[in-house]
Amino acid sequence: MSLDGKVALVTGGSRGIGAAVALRLAADGADVVLTYQNGAERAAAVADRIKELGRRALAVRADSADPAAVESAVAEAVAEFGRLDVVVNNAGTGAVGPIGDFSLADVDRVLDVNVRAPFLIARAAAAHLGAGARVVNIGSCVADRVPGPGMTLYAMSKSAVDGLTKALARELGERGVTVNVVHPGPTDTDMNPADGPFAESQQALTALGRYGTPDEVAAAVSYLAGDEARYVTGTALSVDGGHAA
Ligand code: NDP
Repeated sequence: MSLDGKVALVTGGSRGIGAAVALRLAADGADVVLTYQNGAERAAAVADRIKELGRRALAVRADSADPAAVESAVAEAVAEFGRLDVVVNNAGTGAVGPIGDFSLADVDRVLDVNVRAPFLIARAAAAHLGAGARVVNIGSCVADRVPGPGMTLYAMSKSAVDGLTKALARELGERGVTVNVVHPGPTDTDMNPADGPFAESQQALTALGRYGTPDEVAAAVSYLAGDEARYVTGTALSVDGGHAA
């Protein structure tokens, strides 16, 4: 399998897109370290499923808003499995509402989790990433197209992930490390359930007229993490049902 012998770190791997990515990379052959904030039982269940696939797994509690915790998650991955080949910055937090409703604490929380943590993880991981290694960031379709009001804080945070992706691709390229971002569209998870109050309007914004599944996003991450994507770097791959079309 394409990731045999490799070690992946997936932030926010206890649920939703992150859990699907962790399981897919394990199915591709990788040993997986996954982080979570509160969902210890769900993270342990994902780790158990990875072990059933014959791979090693470690679930680490690491609040992405805590700089020391995210940096020590990288150190734990390397200490436990001896190397690091694939980093997936997935953990994220939503924020929807009029700009005037956001407190300074809201702004800090969203930027700490969605922007600062991927930067800190990339910084900590960079020392361990060798030729053929991969960084895959999970951005959002709203970095391409903001379909209406109420998305200022979230879209700003996800656009910053695009900037991180391009600049880091330039920085790590000479070492043979690729860095890309996946832009999911509306995807059926706890954050954005397909039967939620805003589902119908989001679905209507896609060309395909439906929500995506976490597995559909994980398939794109699997491609970018694999050897076939070795000449793909600094770019965005939309898995958004045509939301940006
Ligand atoms: P969910 O809310 O369903 O899952 C979030 C995951 O991230 C959980 O594993 C959660 O852990 C973890 N997490 C959340 N906050 C933190 C934190 N502070 N520290 C560590 N882990 C944390 O989200 P999705 O799966 O929907 O989203 C995953 C990514 O995809 C996010 O970056 C999101 O912005 C992005 N995205 C999602 C879309 C969608 O429609 N679903 C669309 C576009 C982008 P725990 O279980 O411990 O709480």
